[in-house]
Amino acid sequence: MTTDPSSPELAPELTEEQELLQQTVRDYVRDHVAPHAAKYDEAESFPEIPWAKARELGLTAITIPEAWGGSAMGTLAASIVVEEISRVCPSTAVTLSVHNSLVASAVAKHSTDAQRARFLPKLASGEWLGAYCLSEAGAGTDASDQKATAVRKGDRFVINGAKLWITSGTHAGLFLVFARTAPSPDPDKRSRGISCFVVERATKGVTIGKKEEKLGIRASPTTEVLFNECEIPAENLLGELDKGFRIAMDALDVGRIGIASQGLGIAQGCFDESLRYARERRQFGRPIAEFQAIQWKLADMATGIDAARLLTRRAARMRDAGAPCGKEAAMAKLFASTLANKVADEAVQVHGSAGYSREYRVERLFRDARITEIYEGTTEAQRMVIARALLG
Ligand SMILES: Cc1cc2nc3c(=O)[nH]c(=O)nc-3n(C[C@H](O)[C@H](O)[C@H](O)COP(=O)(O)OP(=O)(O)OC[C@H]3O[C@@H](n4cnc5c(N)ncnc54)[C@H](O)[C@@H]3O)c2cc1C
Repeated sequence: MTTDPSSPELAPELTEEQELLQQTVRDYVRDHVAPHAAKYDEAESFPEIPWAKARELGLTAITIPEAWGGSAMGTLAASIVVEEISRVCPSTAVTLSVHNSLVASAVAKHSTDAQRARFLPKLASGEWLGAYCLSEAGAGTDASDQKATAVRKGDRFVINGAKLWITSGTHAGLFLVFARTAPSPDPDKRSRGISCFVVERATKGVTIGKKEEKLGIRASPTTEVLFNECEIPAENLLGELDKGFRIAMDALDVGRIGIASQGLGIAQGCFDESLRYARERRQFGRPIAEFQAIQWKLADMATGIDAARLLTRRAARMRDAGAPCGKEAAMAKLFASTLANKVADEAVQVHGSAGYSREYRVERLFRDARITEIYEGTTEAQRMVIARALLG
């Protein structure tokens, strides 16, 4: 495989293996996700049935090398999984996206073989669901302003601090935690002196705090995760001491491709529903699809979706080819997340009053779309990443 993203080898066709995966996920979504999605949203409860079935199908193992129990299918495969599930249930999709793209791929890339052997098989089987713990009360867009600390004590580190807004906090078995291990020598470069640790849920001193009540993705539990005199073996340090912020940012490059895929899938789901409804719903004696105002909405939706898919898959292919993809991942996330909101808004409009009712899927997708512009870096943060890459 070449690292040149413009090479024909990186052209937008899927491989046979990826097409098979896409079909498998479509069947899974039809049989095990769609029948339950609205119910989990209403109850604000973790999608237990879709998660259990995802484990059986190996959807939790996609970014993990075969030697450690994974299928090593890569970033594009993980993107396909998230896109397909997001058409129907963005909550289930983000659960898998954080697990595969933010956590498992980071552990696979930045660990020693001894660490891989300890952590990856349980992530691959889904026995452990992964959570990524970077955000704090004062560390949002400025993630380098970390207040959590990890202090070396003999052969252990002792972690103290409160992480906020943690996806899957209630159900995670493994937390990827960022904490300050040294005072920053340079006040302008607070990203120095942060390290990355694996913390198992069973560790003494780990507690789950408040669960957020949210506008959307209500079946994805978001919680505080608190570390109080939490002692972990020194072997749980991932990568080099004081250089964990690079791991956090590298993981976010992959994570953003996941959220771009979520936005893309939400847009596709909204389009599918709108096309069907526009053909069925009759006003003035004819289907509303015959009105040009509706046709133009559908045309704009379809055009944006194709563009988002091209951007998302370009970034995923670059990552799989080992090429730097920070700018391209940010472009994909920026475009696909803003598109998701635009398309969801238009989908509600195409549905009229029905689109405002919980009986119709677009109402939930409209609420779920909003988060794609906020987490894993806001829309403004994506523009900052892109501009920085352009200006050098
Ligand atoms: C449902 C949900 C799940 C999440 N899951 C996780 C998770 O699993 N792990 C995790 O670590 N975090 C998670 N987060 C946290 C999320 O990544 C942050 O909330 C996000 O990065 C934004 O940070 P903030 O909310 O503090 O916003 P702030 O940083 O306070 O930003 C507020 C506003 O100011 C803008 N802004 C800030 N700085 C600038 C600037 N320099 N230039 C221009 N505009 C700027 C922002 O774009 C935004 O519009 C989650 C959040 C939510 C809501």
